[in-house]
Amino acid sequence: MSFCCGASMVGTKGTLKHYRTQVHNVPLLFCPVCHRVEVHYKVESEYEILAEYAHGDGVTDVDFQDYVLEDESAIFENVINVESEDPLAIVQSQIDMALDLLAVAKQIEDAKWERELKKRLAVMSQRRHRLQQKA
Ligand SMILES: [Zn+2]
Repeated sequence: MSFCCGASMVGTKGTLKHYRTQVHNVPLLFCPVCHRVEVHYKVESEYEILAEYAHGDGVTDVDFQDYVLEDESAIFENVINVESEDPLAIVQSQIDMALDLLAVAKQIEDAKWERELKKRLAVMSQRRHRLQQKA
């Protein structure tokens, strides 16, 4: 588990900018408190190599997923912790997180990521609605 500001950081995926090169689908850790985003420590060196390589080639867009075949669940296994929490609280915190990430996406002007997050938000608010009706 990674910590920042005393809160546990959340695993996600997003786009990072390396000079003029955008690297998509990079496993990231996100601090829900201060909104700091960093490359997931398990793929840090892969990210650096790929970003440098793409930048050196003058490529403007590169997809991390196409180059690095890490098992996603293995990357995030220590990050995502749920189980004992109540499902409504989990959905609510996921919505809050997606909203925070949306602010980040807007900040770095990543329209693709923004669209994905909005889609995710729509799905999660439906889920929340269903859970609320059950309760
Ligand atoms: Zn923080």
